Amino acid sequence: MNGGGGGFLSPEVKLQWSRIRTWLREEYGDTVYNNWFKPMTLLRVDAGCAWIGVPTPYTRDWSQQNYQSRLRARWNEENRKVTAVEFVVANVAVGEVDPGETDPPPAVAPRDILDGDERGIGALLDPRFTFENFVVGKPNEFAHAAAKRVAEATIAESLQPPFNPLFLHGGVGLGKTHLMHAIAWEMRRQRPTRRFIYLSAEKFMYQFVRALRSKDTMPFKELFRSVDVLLIDDFQFIGGKESTQEEFFHTFNALVDMNRQIVISADKSPSDLDIEERMRSRLVHGMVADVHPTTYELRLVILQSKAEHLRLAIPLRVLEFLAHKITSNVRELEGALNRIMAHAQFIGRDITVDTAEEVLQDLLKKNDRRVTIDEIQKRVAEHYNIRSADMHSARRAREIARPRQVAMYLCKMLTPRSLPEIGKKFGGRDHTTVIHAIRRIEELSVADKTLAEDLAILTRLLQTGERGN
Ligand code: ADP
Ligand code: MG
Repeated sequence: MNGGGGGFLSPEVKLQWSRIRTWLREEYGDTVYNNWFKPMTLLRVDAGCAWIGVPTPYTRDWSQQNYQSRLRARWNEENRKVTAVEFVVANVAVGEVDPGETDPPPAVAPRDILDGDERGIGALLDPRFTFENFVVGKPNEFAHAAAKRVAEATIAESLQPPFNPLFLHGGVGLGKTHLMHAIAWEMRRQRPTRRFIYLSAEKFMYQFVRALRSKDTMPFKELFRSVDVLLIDDFQFIGGKESTQEEFFHTFNALVDMNRQIVISADKSPSDLDIEERMRSRLVHGMVADVHPTTYELRLVILQSKAEHLRLAIPLRVLEFLAHKITSNVRELEGALNRIMAHAQFIGRDITVDTAEEVLQDLLKKNDRRVTIDEIQKRVAEHYNIRSADMHSARRAREIARPRQVAMYLCKMLTPRSLPEIGKKFGGRDHTTVIHAIRRIEELSVADKTLAEDLAILTRLLQTGERGN
């Protein structure tokens, strides 16, 4: 990395960079371009490496993960000597002027990739995590609606929390953080004067311990009590530490008393968290909304919307294949899509189910828990304490019929089997019986919390192959 010394870029290299930028904009579309590529500055090209400045560590990591290989390939097309691309955080004032850049600033300009508060206590908000980008389906519609309600309240003239706190919980990679950021973005956009802090419980703990150590907790307390909206992510990490819990408890109460909104997310429900009883009872006092594991339908729509967003022409068959195979969570779905995209770009071939299978070997293996109807019947019977044989029997007593319906429902959700095939496995029942069962469970699970939880637990156990107990 010698010889660059910053500043100097040959006209040739500048031209190459500008062509690459034009290509990036066409390739990724305006939103992605404005968020990620526009703030990039070419610092220098030396020793076969293009050094690109980005505004924050976050954008650096993101770019590395998502764009490095494509940028490298594209650079190499422009300039054979360039075989590597590196991103570095550089606070370069807008130095280069993009040729022909006359468009208005994007809604989410890179400098708006903001801290959860002005003093750098909070965490960064991801510009992609907005309500517009959130795909709503059965498993998350309740959590989404609750988050929307809260967002609306936070942008209203006077802040009246509809419920306090909003407590979002669910498995990893299912959109909890996304929803929290969406609330914050909404507020930032519509009511920028309102103050909020978004941070993880871990960071809260860290800040508090630091304040304790410096023997001055006043600024800490004041800061957290001065916000209109407090969003705490990954709350499960607060468990254990007593002094932090205590502090959080007081902050929580102070804010609630002042009618400020609190939003919390965790990977467990309040009743499963390792926290003090008084905290627990406060948490369930608001709205507890769980994000359920994805269904095939939701996965497919998410994939379609992401592919569209990235302007990727992926055949429906491939998307269906992915939705079937990658059942763990949305994060892995996105990972799969990114990899396929990078691969297609690199190799320059069309994407087929075969290519997808090849590129995603390891991911698929991890997700390759082929759930069978037998397994579902067995698990559900265990869960409800009935005999496996009752899955096939003609008995219609409610305590048997309901679990049987649950099992049918799960078979539809978790296996690629058709309705007649499912019916056959349940003592030769007709496919209309299966349809009826699925509808019934769908209806009931809306109001029946216990049933909804049963479904979530069973789905998780079946998908991960964990042993229930
Ligand atoms: P969690 O916080 O629940 O672990 P995240 O909110 O980080 O999960 O979501 C993981 C990834 O999946 C993110 O990139 C997020 O944008 C995406 N994601 C999750 N749910 C959805 C959804 N319903 N629509 C679009 N993207 C989603
Ligand atoms: Mg999260």
